[in-house]
Amino acid sequence: MKIQKWILCIIVGLLAVSLLTGCSQRAEIQTNISPKKIQVYASIYPMYDFAQKIGKDRIDLKLVTPPGAEPHDWEPTARNIAEMKEADVFIYNGAGFESWVDKLVRTIDSDSLILVDTSSGVELLKATDHIHDHGHAHQMDPHIWLDPIRAKKQAENIQNAFIQADPANRAFYEKNYQEFSEEIESLHKQYRDALSNVKRREMIVSHAAFGYLAERYGLEQIPISGISPQEEPSPAKMAQITRLCRERQVKYIFFETLASPKLAEVLADEVGAQTAVLNPIGGLTQQEIDAGKDYFSIMKENLEVLKKALGE
Ligand SMILES: [Zn+2]
Repeated sequence: MKIQKWILCIIVGLLAVSLLTGCSQRAEIQTNISPKKIQVYASIYPMYDFAQKIGKDRIDLKLVTPPGAEPHDWEPTARNIAEMKEADVFIYNGAGFESWVDKLVRTIDSDSLILVDTSSGVELLKATDHIHDHGHAHQMDPHIWLDPIRAKKQAENIQNAFIQADPANRAFYEKNYQEFSEEIESLHKQYRDALSNVKRREMIVSHAAFGYLAERYGLEQIPISGISPQEEPSPAKMAQITRLCRERQVKYIFFETLASPKLAEVLADEVGAQTAVLNPIGGLTQQEIDAGKDYFSIMKENLEVLKKALGE
């Protein structure tokens, strides 16, 4: 009797071991034949960075607008468009930022490509003020990512697209989005706390990229150029800004890394102000990428600059 039980135990034990080995062998085989990563293209840097943080190593991600290119200006070549035909997911900012997207969509004849307009479902600001000279009455401000709360919604749209393209990894994308959303909420609180009690509220910026940020934190954006750096001000507009800077004794004029600082420098000279970089993060320079900078680190640099400039 006793011996029989003992033998039974050994048999059960052996069976369990062989089952386990079988399982792990199957698991190994599964990893070997796992489907290829989803091919993702992102139009501009902020979309690329959000996609990177949500897709991590489960996506094969490419940035369409090259480092150092001024993103308002840039358009893909025929070759770039041909490459994008391989994409499973194409992520763009929307709200009119990438004027070339319509052409891309017309060219790419695919019923499986998932197009992500990250601005969709985000409440947009009408670009007023500076555009009266140019007459684009219904133009929207496309710089959505500079408001952390709206950026979070953009990232959520990216998460949803990844889940649609690759439902097997749903939990992975959801977890990464959750982490992203906690980090961006914390960034929002840092901005809110730091900017709630500054002495000045006006930001003289080189182009009108900071409308959403200004709205979120109760600041006033005064842009030298229009919604894109190429929309240069008329002499009358320049005179008006100069007057305003003198009246309010503005201490800082902001310029940016990918557009000419010329107008900001002229204005600063004229009114006796200093210049400082406020980065709209539409694109990074290769140097910034090599230095390991990303959306969050630059948003924090921007906040330090704003605290100093608006605190004096
Ligand atoms: Zn811009």
